[in-house]
Amino acid sequence: MGKTISEKILSEHAGRELKAGDISVVSIDVVFAQDGTGPLAVSQLKKMGFDRVADPYNSVFFIDHAAPSPRKELSDSHKVLRNFAAESGAVLSDINRGVCHQVVAEDYACPGDIVIGADSHTCTAGALGAFATGMGSTDIAVGFALSKTWMMVPHTIKVNFEGSIQKGVYAKDLILYLIYKITADGATYKALEFSGQVSSELEMEDRLTISNMAVEAGAKAGIFATDEKTENYLKKQGRPSCFKEIFPDSDAEYEQVINIDCTLIEPMISRPHTVDNATGISGIEKVKIDQVLIGTCTNGRISDLRVAASILKNRKVAGSVRLLVVPASSNVYMDAIREGLIEIFIESGATVVNPGCGPCVGVHQGALAQGDVCLSTQNRNFKGRMGNPEGFIYLSSPATAAWSAVKGYISDPREVLV
Ligand code: SF4
Repeated sequence: MGKTISEKILSEHAGRELKAGDISVVSIDVVFAQDGTGPLAVSQLKKMGFDRVADPYNSVFFIDHAAPSPRKELSDSHKVLRNFAAESGAVLSDINRGVCHQVVAEDYACPGDIVIGADSHTCTAGALGAFATGMGSTDIAVGFALSKTWMMVPHTIKVNFEGSIQKGVYAKDLILYLIYKITADGATYKALEFSGQVSSELEMEDRLTISNMAVEAGAKAGIFATDEKTENYLKKQGRPSCFKEIFPDSDAEYEQVINIDCTLIEPMISRPHTVDNATGISGIEKVKIDQVLIGTCTNGRISDLRVAASILKNRKVAGSVRLLVVPASSNVYMDAIREGLIEIFIESGATVVNPGCGPCVGVHQGALAQGDVCLSTQNRNFKGRMGNPEGFIYLSSPATAAWSAVKGYISDPREVLV
């Protein structure tokens, strides 16, 4: 019997043949934690008696969730990571660099790797053909210490994105539609393997958006096979030698196959307070918004900012709306400056925030007020997510977010896209 992508990658890292359901120790290629989860990982490492990490070049501490620090307690946490990175030889990705998942895609993850991170959206790197998954700080501490972890090989659900994508519809809409269809626990501890004609046509940045949100359906991983687009992306990141072909066997066994006709998908909106509480935008009544966020590890890449800027150019954000734009990394920020996108945002009335998580997790840079309604390109709209349980978060693509910022209420980007 052939293997899925997950079975192949995990078998290679276990040094023996594995199939779905098997439990094994596997070697890992990249391990990371961020400023929310890293201090606990460091304390666990110290408790276990480790003052070094096993693979310094591929062990990374990111300071991205509260970057720069908004208060002294978080400054102290940042100091723990800075000091431990200096002592242990691990890499420190400090406040200037960007969101962990974007930087892992740019600088660290390779096709066929196992990537583990102390953050739920570690699955983002699955877009590059890596088996990437989030874990708790204690498991991550062991990963830092030994470059090994244990894993149960997940069963795989194959998702065929077929048909064609309509005007105004983006990767974010595809993944919101999938989560709406299978629900927030529809893929619990499964690997989602994205396939089909549309998947092969998606650009790498679109694939990163889709893999990023696999965990919102409960998935352990969300993986694409590699192709020329993967190869070109890695070349652009200056890592051409890291490319290799990753694909499932033709007789791989899937637990389920889901066929999605993308032709039928319209711009999608997730309503408060769960991601799967989604609808096509034609099912949304007039929802007035107070804040719009374009950015995060889901939709803060250059292609996202280009789409948003194409809509905001020569237009003004509605007077009642605060529009926040957050590039996902310093590389994205530099590209946006070179391309003149930042000027467009500022002229439209947007506030551009430094690369990082920004207000996504509610720590700083745009926490919601009581009753505020926010339309965001992030991946989660749970109660309290943006710093206030009395706020209301809707999710959409960057195009929908940008056009809605201009109109002042949730609006269909097909009205403006030619
Ligand atoms: Fe988490 Fe948001 Fe940061 Fe992504 S941008 S890592 S979802 S806090």
